[in-house]
Amino acid sequence: MSYKNFPMVPRVIFGRGSFNQLEEIISPKRLNSNAPFIFLVDDVFKGNAWLTSRIPLSYDDKLHFISADEEPKTSQVDELVEKIILEHKERPSGIIGIGGGTILDLAKAVSIMLTNNGSSAAYQGWDLVKTPAIYHVGIPTISGTGAEVSRTTVLTGPEKKLGINSDYTPFDQVILDPELTKDIPKEQWFYTGMDCYIHCIESLNGSYINAFSQSYGEKAYSLCKEIFVDNQLSKQESQDKLMMASWHGGMSIAYSQVGVAHAMSYGLSYLLGTKHGIGNCIVFDHLNDYYPEGVRLFKEMKERHGITIPQGICAELEDREFDIMIDVALSLEPLWENAIGKNWKTKITRDKLKALYQLM
Ligand code: NAD
Ligand code: ZN
Repeated sequence: MSYKNFPMVPRVIFGRGSFNQLEEIISPKRLNSNAPFIFLVDDVFKGNAWLTSRIPLSYDDKLHFISADEEPKTSQVDELVEKIILEHKERPSGIIGIGGGTILDLAKAVSIMLTNNGSSAAYQGWDLVKTPAIYHVGIPTISGTGAEVSRTTVLTGPEKKLGINSDYTPFDQVILDPELTKDIPKEQWFYTGMDCYIHCIESLNGSYINAFSQSYGEKAYSLCKEIFVDNQLSKQESQDKLMMASWHGGMSIAYSQVGVAHAMSYGLSYLLGTKHGIGNCIVFDHLNDYYPEGVRLFKEMKERHGITIPQGICAELEDREFDIMIDVALSLEPLWENAIGKNWKTKITRDKLKALYQLM
């Protein structure tokens, strides 16, 4: 047995208003006046001076507003990289992603593809990246995915939805400023927050569990309970704690794996474009056979916050389409092995997955 030697985010700043320190943090990393910083910013912040006035642009620095309506695609990464190469004389000093999991993943992928040839689709998988990425900074504006701390960037490509998992993927610097999450609509707050909760349930109840993952997973789980169940926190405490829950949840799955909800949610996402947070909720709602206690508490949280999960999204699908989702879900073997155990193939059948999808 050989153990994974795991890279971590080497620098992190935490605190309300810490975003104000962005300039002092990145300016020592500027290579020269022709090597710009490229800011990839969620377009929900377009026209929002409270945030954008604090983005320090100088020399040839460039800010791109990017929509998070769709999750990142390999083609989108390739186009952005192409554009950056054409627009600037020199390789950038760094990439700074400001947004949710969608934008953070884009920032990671772009920073990798600026130093590695070909299409990003060629690097979807495990440890395929050969050359270190350029300096990249992640600044989450919504909490839950753990993308700020993880070793992957999840991309939808021509053939698959799969991460670029590599030692070069994690951010060089993360800025955790919970104040940036203050204006998230309630539904989205819940969906992305539940991504963290589901990471905990899948990690803690998986066969890959170990003391490393458990210690982070239990902390994230208890923070999620404080935030979504106990309801005793101020708004600010809740924002602060969810940001740390996301971090711990991400750390937990780093050394274990996710499970059934993520496998099936990837199927929904690939076929229907269902986004990660809401997709996980749609699936998890029907997983009482796999995670009875986790699903019970999930339903309670849903109730407490008056959240309704979309129903009937698979109602009109044809057999061919169910097959596509089932293929995507089943291809994620480590997730099933973690969730069910080594002999998962004897327990998880195509019919079982189809019956579950038909409930959604
Ligand atoms: P998101 O980035 O897709 O954003 C969701 C919505 O919230 C968008 O409409 C966005 O504009 C809005 N938003 C973000 N911040 C806001 C703010 N402060 N105020 C108002 N609105 C705001 O959501 P997400 O759930 O964070 O990310 C999902 C993505 O993360 C998926 O692409 C998924 O594949 C990826 N993901 C990655 C990892 C990883 O380890 N790399 C893990 C889990 C999920
Ligand atoms: Zn997730």
